[in-house]
Amino acid sequence: MRVAFLGLGHMGLPMARNLAAAGHDVTGFDVVPAACDAARDAGLTVAARALDAVADADVVLTMFQTGAQVTDAYRGGGDTPGLLQAAPAGILFIDCSTIAVDDARAAHALATAAGHRSLDAPVSGGVVGAENATLAFMVGGEADVFAQARPILEAMGRRIVHCGEAGLGQAAKVCNNMILAASQIAVAEAFVLGERLGLGHQALYDVAAHASGQCWALTVNCPVPGPVPSSPANRDYAPGFAGALMDKDLSLAAHAVQSTGTDARIGMLAHEIYRDYAAGPGAARDFSGIITDIRDAR
Ligand code: NAD
Repeated sequence: MRVAFLGLGHMGLPMARNLAAAGHDVTGFDVVPAACDAARDAGLTVAARALDAVADADVVLTMFQTGAQVTDAYRGGGDTPGLLQAAPAGILFIDCSTIAVDDARAAHALATAAGHRSLDAPVSGGVVGAENATLAFMVGGEADVFAQARPILEAMGRRIVHCGEAGLGQAAKVCNNMILAASQIAVAEAFVLGERLGLGHQALYDVAAHASGQCWALTVNCPVPGPVPSSPANRDYAPGFAGALMDKDLSLAAHAVQSTGTDARIGMLAHEIYRDYAAGPGAARDFSGIITDIRDAR
């Protein structure tokens, strides 16, 4: 397939490379010239303009930071036609950015109104997953569009889940990350409480990892060094999943909580806690480093 890949940042570049490695004819573009240079150095074909990248495409993938970037690029502005207008008629648009559910639905409505098919397909797995083509994709859109997109997504990921109609890929992403944030804080609080009661890290781990406290935040991302040697705590909280990204995802969760009137007090408190964490050095540290803030708050 001829694939236009727009947004060649930390995630987009390795994803585009995996699509090319799987035999697709990939043309990339990024608004930042340095990102285009890095993509050329990595062996990708890079277009001079977004509109050139999409002109012959069968599929257009976007991997941007925000929802406004996606809808603005789809729509265009002023004298510049948008991607939806510049692309051949009736092609497939897949947005892999992590954006608000409402923005994903707006992007889908724009694409549909322009005669295209579209999916929201946010990912988890981080840069390592993008490089190794082991990302998890959470996909929203019609079932037949999902079936059409599957081979493309399989070139970049390992677990691909159709979550339902447009926007529900993003919904799955915010719900999962709200669980993750709350459980990471709860695990960190338990270790600090244990320390103050004289309970060793390994003893608490050996009990909770095999009891009802068991969760990913404990058994994979353990916030103290020792019990899980591969967790970020063993390398001074080098990410992993950085605090700034968790704060961003929780902002999207908060938006969804407000727009649906959901009683999610734990999730919203987790958002407040990670907003403070990401306002300092935590922005660039793994989100499990929240344990340091909890320990220091006396
Ligand atoms: P990034 O900032 O490194 O890359 C985004 C790129 O999009 C930038 O290079 C930017 O210049 C480009 N861009 C923006 N608007 C554009 C446009 N109109 N045309 C072409 N290029 C444009 O961000 P990232 O870390 O690659 O993350 C991308 C998305 O994936 C975000 O939504 C993020 O929340 C999500 N995500 C990131 C990670 C991670 O570990 N980095 C993990 C999961 C999900």
